[in-house]
Amino acid sequence: MTRVALTFDAEHPDRSAWSQANAGRILDELAAAGVRCTFFVQSRWAEAEPVIARRIAAEGHLIGNHSAFHARMTLLSDDGVRADVGHAERTIATITGADAKPWFRCPFGDGYDDARVLSLLDGIGYRNVHWNVEPADWEPSRTASDVAHDTTARALEHGDGAVVLLHTWPDATSGAIASIVDGLTRAGATLVTVDELDALP
Ligand SMILES: [Zn+2]
Repeated sequence: MTRVALTFDAEHPDRSAWSQANAGRILDELAAAGVRCTFFVQSRWAEAEPVIARRIAAEGHLIGNHSAFHARMTLLSDDGVRADVGHAERTIATITGADAKPWFRCPFGDGYDDARVLSLLDGIGYRNVHWNVEPADWEPSRTASDVAHDTTARALEHGDGAVVLLHTWPDATSGAIASIVDGLTRAGATLVTVDELDALP
């Protein structure tokens, strides 16, 4: 069995070419395909986009914590990590009704291999979820077909346990969803949430 987890960081983008509407389009495409995915929610984004944030939970997707301020975890003190992650946890719960625990994704992936950060996260009930497939959907030059092709090809090349890093805001990503789901499904893969995988990157 080839299980593939598409994961989306739901956050304030740092690029000029994007649309907040893409998060809603991605949810529409996933609902049409009947697929549940994992969304790592930055709580400041959820405060700015509460309707979309609530939709993520209401439509059955798995919610993880993507911090409050999207700071690099390795730059924060021990208390800073605990304060940021705890604040995000409470805000995400208030807005979406979902408990993000135990799923966390380090902003920029920074800290995923840092023993101090991982131990701090563990101490407050979280495990970091990194990724092993990176179609670079944040690059402005990437088209929907680039993202769809790379996601499908690399996830299948990785095989069971593929965790794909995507984002809710690029035009290319919202335009790629239908083709990604179709391509993976035709190849016999099953789309799952990260809590359904045996091992995580
Ligand atoms: Zn992020």
